[in-house]
Order: sequence, then structure tokens, then C-alpha cells
Amino acid sequence: MSRKVKTTVIGSYPVDIDRMEFMQEYSNGREVSWNKYIRSAVNDMIAAGIDIVSDGQTRDPFINIFTRKLKGCRLRDRTEIIDKVEYAGPITLEDYKYVRELIPEKKELIGLVVGPHTLSESVVDLHYKDKKELAFDFAYALKQEAKALQNHVDMIGVDEPFFSNSMPEYGKELIGIITKNLTCPTRLHACGDVSNIVPELLEMPVDVLSHEFKASPQLFDAFGEYDSSKKICLGAVRSDNVQVETIDEIVSHIEKGISVFGEHISQLAPDCGQRLLTRDIAFKKLKNLVLAGEKVYGR
Ligand SMILES: [Zn+2]
Repeated sequence: MSRKVKTTVIGSYPVDIDRMEFMQEYSNGREVSWNKYIRSAVNDMIAAGIDIVSDGQTRDPFINIFTRKLKGCRLRDRTEIIDKVEYAGPITLEDYKYVRELIPEKKELIGLVVGPHTLSESVVDLHYKDKKELAFDFAYALKQEAKALQNHVDMIGVDEPFFSNSMPEYGKELIGIITKNLTCPTRLHACGDVSNIVPELLEMPVDVLSHEFKASPQLFDAFGEYDSSKKICLGAVRSDNVQVETIDEIVSHIEKGISVFGEHISQLAPDCGQRLLTRDIAFKKLKNLVLAGEKVYGR
């Protein structure tokens, strides 16, 4: 698709992980290379025709990907905060460099960081006893990661699933810490029903807003009430449902999106990360998303 509207993914992609290999390598004192899992995810995205791919976040649940490598965090069942949170060096940079090697030149890459609010809500805090202070330290650390990634990706995405449950009054400030002065465009993803925080979302210092318009079609009305020039990443296939949407069904969903957002739609994506689907279903959904996008916007 050479046109302006591009297909993309939100975050995680399911791959078949060989647990036996991990146990064997672990008992031999070796580490398993994740490259083949990253390659499986990326190859599927490319085979489906996706324009802007991610690394598939195959390594870990997306909270742990980041807390595993930040100072002050200790991984237990949930991450515990035991000291001041600080950046200790690149977290996902090597994975993205690897993805860049895998993809054709005309494809693009979105580098993903988990949002500081979502991190602060997901961990067990044994150090700060102050959620705001913790969230800001996460934001400063993630800013370093975004800066490390920006020369290697085409866009930076910040994922804040917890905004739909609890938008803090400092939400905009947190996102601004990460996106300020970045050299590439930015996207904020917040899943769930975000109808009641649309004004706050429209104020966010990012280029693109990404939401679950397929599972939460009431968002069309909620966003329709505001006049905004913010670009939209339209969630167009569900991530919480194994039924593969038909091309025609996705086409009419995109048309509905166009009736609300017009030319402000810049990306088409699944509603959310696809980690909980089987690989086969996830792939079919991406494929139909791409075909529907081509039907509406041309190749
Ligand atoms: Zn999501």
C-alpha cells in the first residue's frame, strides 16, 4: 500500500514456543535465542501483508519485557519495586535491529514501550508508596528507551491499557515525558471502552490514537462528538474473539470509521495485541484486515 493509510499491529503476536528447548538449554546453563520466535511473528505479519510491523513481543508478557531490565524492579509472580526505578540500558533495541534485518525495505517498524501508568498499576510497590512518583520514574526510564529506539524504527508506540480503568490527572504529563522531542511519529494505544476519557485522549501529545473500535463500537459516537484533527489507528478486528471477521465485515467497519473520522484514519489494526489467540486465527485476522484495507483504500 503506497497510500497514506497503513495496516499495522498493536503489540503481541502468538508464536509456538518450544518449552522443552528452554528446559534443556536452561539445564545446560545456556540461554535460548529468541530470534527464531521473533522471526516467526514477523514472518507472519509480512506474509499477511502488514505494512508496519512490531517485534511481536514474544519474549515475555509486555510488563515483564520492561521491568526485567529496569533498575529497581525484581521479578516475582508480579514485578516488585524494591528501589528507585532507573534505566539500565536498552531493553528491546537488539530485537528491533534484528526485525529491521528481516523485513523488506518498504515495510516499516513500530517500536513499542509499555506506558508508565500501566506499569505503576501493575507492579507491587515496596519502595515508593506513592504511585505518582513511581509512574514518573517509569516515564523517565521509558523516555531513555524511546530515544534508544527512535533511530531504528519508523514510529514509537506507547501502550497504556490501564487508561481505560483509571486515567490519572497527570496522564498527559506522563505521555509527554516519553514523546517530547522524539524524532519519529508517536502512537498511543489504550484498549477497552475509553468513551469517558475521549477529551483527555484527544489532548495527548502523540500523533496517532489507537483504540478498540471493533469490540467497543460505542467509541464511534464518543469520538464523533468532538472535532479533532488527531490521526486514528482504527481497531478493526477483535483480539478477544476467535471468530475471524470476513473481509466484507471489516470493509463496512472501516466505512463506518471513515464516516466518523474521514481522512484522519491513518492506520488499520487489530483492536489490541493478539497474544491470546492461536497463531492460525491471529494470522487469518491480519490477512483479512489487509485485504479489507486494500478494498477500501486500494493497494
Ligand atoms: Zn490493547
